[in-house]
Amino acid sequence: MTRSFTYTALPGRVVFGAGAARMSLVAEVVALGRGRILVVAGQAEAALADELCVALDDVVVGRFDQVRQHVPIEIAKAARRHAEAVGADLLLSIGGGSTTGTAKAIAITTSLPILAVPTTYAGSEMTPVWGLTEMGRKTTGTDQRVLPQTVIYDPDLTRSLPGWLSVVSGLNAMAHSVEAFWAAGANPVTDALAAESIAALARGLPRVLADGDDADGRHDALYGAWLAGAAFAVAGAGLHHKICHALGGRFDLPHAQTHAVVLPHVLAFNEAAAPTAADRIAAALSGGGAAAAGGATVGTTAVSAATRLFELARALDSPLALRDIGLTEADLPAAIEVVADRVADGALPANPRPVTRDDVADILTAAWTGDRP
Ligand code: NAD
Repeated sequence: MTRSFTYTALPGRVVFGAGAARMSLVAEVVALGRGRILVVAGQAEAALADELCVALDDVVVGRFDQVRQHVPIEIAKAARRHAEAVGADLLLSIGGGSTTGTAKAIAITTSLPILAVPTTYAGSEMTPVWGLTEMGRKTTGTDQRVLPQTVIYDPDLTRSLPGWLSVVSGLNAMAHSVEAFWAAGANPVTDALAAESIAALARGLPRVLADGDDADGRHDALYGAWLAGAAFAVAGAGLHHKICHALGGRFDLPHAQTHAVVLPHVLAFNEAAAPTAADRIAAALSGGGAAAAGGATVGTTAVSAATRLFELARALDSPLALRDIGLTEADLPAAIEVVADRVADGALPANPRPVTRDDVADILTAAWTGDRP
C-alpha cells in the first residue's frame, strides 16, 4: 500500500539502560548546562530521589513533593511558586506519570527545561501533552515547552513497581501504541514504533508479573513503554483515550486500570475497519511477525487482535470490567452519555469507522460487564 504522510520528529535525548540513572544523571545535568535544580518527586518517590541526587547536592536548590494524580490546579500553582522562589533553572522529575505531569505544569508557565527519570510505564515523558484538573474537570493541551529535553530510562528503577501496577501501567502504554495506528497523525514511522512497542510489552509484562526483579522483563516493558509514548506523541489520541479521559474525569476511575479495561473493546470496535493495523497488532501481541498472527493476509488473522489483547490482560490478572474498578451499574447510563457527548456524531474524524451513540453504548456496556470481545 502506498501512503503519503508527514512526520514531525520531536526533539529529545534518551539514555536507556539498567543502572543508567545512577551512572548518567550527573553527566546529563552537566550536559544541559544548568546549575539550579528543582527536584520534583512525590512523597513515595522521596527515598529514590534522595539516593539519585546525592552527587547533585551542590546544585539542587529545592524539592517539590506535593504530587497528585491529574495535577490539581492548586498543586500546579504551588509548584510554580516554589520553582520561582528557589530560582530554579532546571526541573528534575523522578517518578511516575503524575510526577512528570507536575513538572510539566511548572514548565508550561516558566519554560524551564525538564530532565525526566520515569519510574512507571505511563509514557508522559515522551509527549508534549500536559494535563491539569480544575473543579473536577481535566483539561489537556499540547505545548512543546513541556516536552522533556532529556529522559533517563532505567529499568532498575521499575523493579519496585508492584506486579499488578506494572501490568495496568504496561497496558496503559499498550493503549498509546494501539491507538497510534489510527490517530490523526499516524504514519508508517509511528506504526513501526507502535508495533515494536506492543511486542516488547507483550514479552515483558508476563515476566515482570512472574518476577518483579526479572531484568529482561523490566527492560522489555520499559523499552515498550518508551516507544509507546513516542508513537502516541506524534500520532495523537483517538476514541480510546477520549473514552478513558471522559470516564476518569467524571467518575474518578483509576487511570491505568481504565485504559486496561477499555482497550480490548475499542480495538474490537475498530479492527474490522482497520484490518492492516489489526493484523500488525495481533502479530505484535504474538511476539512475532505476520506469520505469528496466523497469516500474512490482511484482515484474516485467525484470532482477532482484540481477543488476543483481552486474553493477555486476563492472563496478567488485569481487571477486565469497569464494574470491578468503580463504575456502578447506576453510573452506566451517565457514563454512556458523557462519552457520547465527546465522541459521537463525527467528532472523531480519524477513527477508522464512524462512532454513533449506540456504538458508545455497546462499547461501554461490553467494557462494564467485561465480556470477551
Ligand atoms: P502515578 O504517577 O500516579 O503512579 C502510580 C503510583 O505508583 C503512585 O502511588 C506512585 O507513587 C507509585 N510509583 C511510581 N513509580 C513507582 C516505582 N518505581 N515503584 C513503586 N511505586 C511507584 O501513575 P502513572 O500511571 O505513572 O501516571 C498517571 C498520570 O500520568 C495520569 O495523571 C495521566 O493522565 C498522566 N499521563 C500523561 C500522559 C501525557 O502524555 N501527558 C501520558 C500518560 C499518562
